[in-house]
Amino acid sequence: MKRMNAKTRQIAGWKVVFHRYNTVIVGAGAAGMNCAVHLYEFMKRKGVEDAADRIGIVTRGLGLGASRMSGSDKQTYYKLGTSPNVPDCAKSFADTLMAAGCCHGDLALAEGIGSLREFYHLVEAGVAFPTDSIGSFFGYKTDHDPAERATSAGPRTSRFMSECLQKKVEQAGIRVFDRQEAAHLLTIGEGRSKRIVGIVTLEDLRSEISDSTLHAFLAANVVLAAGGPGELYKTSVYPRGQFGIHGLAFRAGLAAENLTESQFGLASIRFRWNVSGTYMQAIPRVFSADADGGHEREFLADVFPSMRTMATDIFLKGYQWPFDPQRIENLQSSLIDILVYNERQKGRRVFLDFRQNPIGAHGMSAFNIDDLESEAFEYLREAGALQKTPVERLAHMNPLAVELYRENGIDLANEPLEIDICAQHNNGGFAVNKWWESSMHHTFIIGEMAGTHGVKRPGGSALNAGQVGGLRAAEYIVNAYGVDVGDYPDNRKEIDQQLRDLIARLSRWRRSSGPAPQDVIEQIQNRMTASAAHIREENDANESLKHAIRLVAEIQDKGLAVPDVPSLIVAIQAEHLALASVAYLKAIVDLLTQNGGSRGSYLVLSPRGVPIHPDIKSKATGEPLAFRLENPDLRNRILRIEHDKGSPDLFKCSEVAPRAVPSGRRAFESAWQEYRKGRIYGIQ
Ligand SMILES: Cc1cc2nc3c(=O)[nH]c(=O)nc-3n(C[C@H](O)[C@H](O)[C@H](O)COP(=O)(O)OP(=O)(O)OC[C@H]3O[C@@H](n4cnc5c(N)ncnc54)[C@H](O)[C@@H]3O)c2cc1C
Repeated sequence: MKRMNAKTRQIAGWKVVFHRYNTVIVGAGAAGMNCAVHLYEFMKRKGVEDAADRIGIVTRGLGLGASRMSGSDKQTYYKLGTSPNVPDCAKSFADTLMAAGCCHGDLALAEGIGSLREFYHLVEAGVAFPTDSIGSFFGYKTDHDPAERATSAGPRTSRFMSECLQKKVEQAGIRVFDRQEAAHLLTIGEGRSKRIVGIVTLEDLRSEISDSTLHAFLAANVVLAAGGPGELYKTSVYPRGQFGIHGLAFRAGLAAENLTESQFGLASIRFRWNVSGTYMQAIPRVFSADADGGHEREFLADVFPSMRTMATDIFLKGYQWPFDPQRIENLQSSLIDILVYNERQKGRRVFLDFRQNPIGAHGMSAFNIDDLESEAFEYLREAGALQKTPVERLAHMNPLAVELYRENGIDLANEPLEIDICAQHNNGGFAVNKWWESSMHHTFIIGEMAGTHGVKRPGGSALNAGQVGGLRAAEYIVNAYGVDVGDYPDNRKEIDQQLRDLIARLSRWRRSSGPAPQDVIEQIQNRMTASAAHIREENDANESLKHAIRLVAEIQDKGLAVPDVPSLIVAIQAEHLALASVAYLKAIVDLLTQNGGSRGSYLVLSPRGVPIHPDIKSKATGEPLAFRLENPDLRNRILRIEHDKGSPDLFKCSEVAPRAVPSGRRAFESAWQEYRKGRIYGIQ
């Protein structure tokens, strides 16, 4: 097959450019790029000469997304252990992923089994994961990690991954369609035979957005790798512009799982970056100030009884980074997140100051590095990081971490760093089977868009999951579904009707008196940060759900005001983000009404719960805040959610049991037969 020429047709007065592929991938982050490379490799292995012409990648921005733009002090890649003397195995890896519940065993095991294959795939692609002189890929322990499984290629591991994989994509000759805003997922059929057959995009040419041209990418298989919906939250460390396509996927009929489970933690907000790892292990002073930066206060010292405990907890926040409600009681490290939240609720700003060691109050003794608890002291001593100031300790342990802020206009040696508790990652996402195929045949979901993680995940396992998912999806597509290009001549009427509906909607918005798209996005973000982030409360979440549903209805009735062409893209984003926010809130409300308690990375407030601290009070009632403990029964029930136009809440929830870890060994000969006959893909 020669590279398919795009065909253009006029539909409802708009130009629609039709492209046809075997597989179209939406998203060019680490997950999407890797899947493209594997599709190419599997096709080549099958003898397909024009493999590159059968694969297309579509993205709203090659330089955008979490993989390209996010990171931390040393961004972690969590893989099966490679230490020469610490044994590890896939089952133990899976057990770690499943430890906090709500995680499918087949996915966890597949992530363990595929881990090293994908890690070495990245090494071969050029990602500089460090080795020692004998060639072993040494690692370090992260939280929830028994086997030194974590490694890093520096603060921007996921960016290197994406760039190295992109080079392979370019070498293969796979086409990347950049600046394509996803506007609709094309479907055919109804009920159980409904399928996604492509994606429609509006091209963003910045200076002249073409408002009367759409692109329709038709494909036999669709891989959705558009990342998490980071723009759902106001207080967020996701890179700006990371909208994702959750609303579009729901509208097309895909089911999601575990949407209630996201990660939140301390991050800098002027330049969005996680302050995990060495940023906290350097033990900076933590203080708050008023809106203008004046009236500084050592607010942690109001609650911590001693400098020793306070400074040790600041250190521990490094590798106990995500907010964890099970680490609040008895002065554990997540108490710091709660105190930051408490201070922010009073309208105060919070900073890390790397120029000074923590400062006490109320007669607390002065900071003394020798007086830290042994876990912290021994770590710093072994790292040779006993220098006088936090910035010196940080520069010693991780000079790249200091450099990174300098490159982004912040000199940690000269100014404090403003922080907040930010949304960082979606553990939940769209439901997939062990081949990362979604609830609809021929549609695969990978990377952060896939809901493969449970209530907690070890730091770095998102990147591993994204790579393994891409491998599994590509293997299944090529070997089970084949390499033919998607065309759908018999479904032309159905497809054209969806394009006409989309065009009618976009055209109507140009004359609409509905809300402005940017206002809609801000409204969603404020609501999600207030009611669906790391602090949740049943009545409040219910109220927010009602407002979110009303917003979707308003957009449907009145449309969105699009005064100029650039606003059209913002309007598309606002529309699907509004639907996504209903899904998240509905899932949260549903779980709370099942007596869901504090778990993962969120705290559930309840007047009858466990008090946090007498000084941490509700802004509304003035009473000390109390929280509901985890309901452990819910660890064995995964909350699934699907769009349901007929339901008053627009979504319906159900419950699925986590699938077990597959067990049992086969004799080599019979397993080999299964493989050779393609039966491992369920094909007879
Ligand atoms: C600050 C921070 C630190 C992190 N640190 C770690 C870590 O140490 N270890 C770890 O494992 N994970 C970490 N994560 C999570 C991890 O980086 C992400 O989960 C992962 O990079 C997601 O990769 P992805 O390919 O699925 O999506 P992304 O990299 O987000 O890519 C999404 C792609 O989809 C495109 N896209 C999005 N929306 C649209 C749309 N509407 N239309 C068209 N295209 C669209 C984007 O342009 C992009 O190409 C961190 C995340 C953050 C924010």
